[in-house]
Amino acid sequence: MSMEIFQKVRKMGEKLKEKRKNEEIDYNYMTAPCGLPCFECYLYLAQFDQGMAETIAGVFNVSPDEIKCKGCRAENGKCAHHPMECRVYKCIESTDMKTCAECNDFPCEYLHPYRDQAEKWHNTKIYNLCRIKKLGLEKWAKEEAGGILDKYFYGTWTL
Ligand code: SF4
Ligand code: SF4
Repeated sequence: MSMEIFQKVRKMGEKLKEKRKNEEIDYNYMTAPCGLPCFECYLYLAQFDQGMAETIAGVFNVSPDEIKCKGCRAENGKCAHHPMECRVYKCIESTDMKTCAECNDFPCEYLHPYRDQAEKWHNTKIYNLCRIKKLGLEKWAKEEAGGILDKYFYGTWTL
């Protein structure tokens, strides 16, 4: 996705979140087991804004309905843009843990970051999970999740 499109989608996302700011969010349900905040995801937000859905769909060359996602748990671990089965979702499904932050084996190989996913946000999973572990899910969701995503996509690294 070009930076121009990224910025366009970012603005749409911000407007939409502002419009929906008084709606109650079930953060436990809307956080994927791998630590991705589905409630901040553009593919989730695209459900509520057809213009946003069309813009993103244009990038992936699919129909707007195909990119809309109800969130990891509602989609049974099948992300809109990933047809394969998610190993993390499958692993946690049979436990009573909410996220990998609660797991004794955290961080396992399934959470490994990969450069070929860097344009999406998969490489933020471990950082998110560490913050969930430190702050608790609710506090992380309310105070940090959106900022982590924003910094990952639009921030500038510095030492
Ligand atoms: S695309 Fe993935 S991260 Fe986004 S809402 Fe769907 S399951 Fe969550
Ligand atoms: S082993 Fe633990 S950290 Fe790894 S995917 Fe399963 S629940 Fe998550």
